[in-house]
Amino acid sequence: MTEAVDTVVVGAGVVGLAVARALQLAGREVWLLEQAGTFGTATSSRNSEVIHAGIYYPAGSLKARWCVRGKALLYDYCARRGVPHRAIGKLIVAAEPQDEAALEGYLRSARANGVHDLEPIDAARLARLEPEVRGCMALHSPSTGIVDSHAYMLALLADFERAGGQFVPAAAVHGGRVVAGGLELELDDPGRTRVRARAVVNSAGLQAPSLAERIDGLPPGCVPRPRYAVGHYYGLAGRHPFNHLIYPVAEPGGLGVHVTIDLAGQVRFGPDVRWREGIDYRFDDSRRADFAAAIRRYYPALRDEALLPGFTGIRPKLAGPGEPEADFVLQHEAVHGVPGLVNLFGIESPGLTASLALAEAVAERLG
Ligand SMILES: Cc1cc2nc3c(=O)[nH]c(=O)nc-3n(C[C@H](O)[C@H](O)[C@H](O)COP(=O)(O)OP(=O)(O)OC[C@H]3O[C@@H](n4cnc5c(N)ncnc54)[C@H](O)[C@@H]3O)c2cc1C
Repeated sequence: MTEAVDTVVVGAGVVGLAVARALQLAGREVWLLEQAGTFGTATSSRNSEVIHAGIYYPAGSLKARWCVRGKALLYDYCARRGVPHRAIGKLIVAAEPQDEAALEGYLRSARANGVHDLEPIDAARLARLEPEVRGCMALHSPSTGIVDSHAYMLALLADFERAGGQFVPAAAVHGGRVVAGGLELELDDPGRTRVRARAVVNSAGLQAPSLAERIDGLPPGCVPRPRYAVGHYYGLAGRHPFNHLIYPVAEPGGLGVHVTIDLAGQVRFGPDVRWREGIDYRFDDSRRADFAAAIRRYYPALRDEALLPGFTGIRPKLAGPGEPEADFVLQHEAVHGVPGLVNLFGIESPGLTASLALAEAVAERLG
């Protein structure tokens, strides 16, 4: 059986939902195909739920541009659509004097990215703001916030469906091929349903590279090698003392084991960085001592027994251990030569924050 539609978006994570909504609102007829039984069950529900300010990323990078633009769009969207969120603010803490140079670097990169509200604070003020946090200096980021990512995705889906878009769960795309006037996708169902579309957006997250590999007609060499950096989260038993999100200076591959507070007031610590070969969400408690040590650098009162194993998330990376961080990749016709195909690769953090800006960029590329 062959179906036909104007546009297919593959993958109903937060990015696929934002892209599908933007394209449908722009007047296209969009199907959003998702292999799982519902939306947002992969990376989009395994993250810190932080609205990032745009501090860390190299000036001019897509991460920097879309984080800053996406932050503004996301705050505005959440306010208009009643999505629970809060600009709770974050403190990036230099636990030891040797961390201070990193904070100075963040001040410079934030300014270069157009983020001008970062404020250096001294140890005495830090102690007043966060009596249980130890540090010799910190940066306060008032525009960093938290969002209920599930409610946000639900709002995106509602907009999409209200505008006439079709969400199709349990529809795994096996592969596809380039045909005259667009692409033909093949679903992984018993009937091997085919869907012809003028435009296809591959927003399959961790699986975007492997899906792209299965599109006949995409020139070889266009698909980057995926790398997987797992992050573990632990909860905290009992009451917590924090008034802000607390971050240490960043580590290779991640932003450092930080404190996030969700909208229900629950604290979680994480994520660490552990490289794995495949997509493997197993929670490995064997490095709990290292994890606790990383937290105690800025929160010495942590009790071992208060750490409760939580969950993992996997960063869809394009750079491996020891390699320079990669930028987001939005690959379109001018890059790979296939009209109507957009591949989104390496949409790791700050992809949740950037999602509405990313959707704008995809809509622009597809005209
Ligand atoms: C540990 C961690 C912490 C993070 N913290 C933050 C944060 O605080 N703030 C922030 O801004 N960002 C954060 N991020 C990044 C953010 O979570 C991601 O950028 C974002 O969720 C990516 O969304 P996505 O839609 O691209 O991918 P996903 O959510 O992974 O969605 C991809 C979807 O595609 C589907 N799919 C895959 N293959 C197929 C197929 N063949 N056919 C049909 N469907 C398919 C999958 O089932 C999945 O539902 C974090 C990420 C991690 C891992």
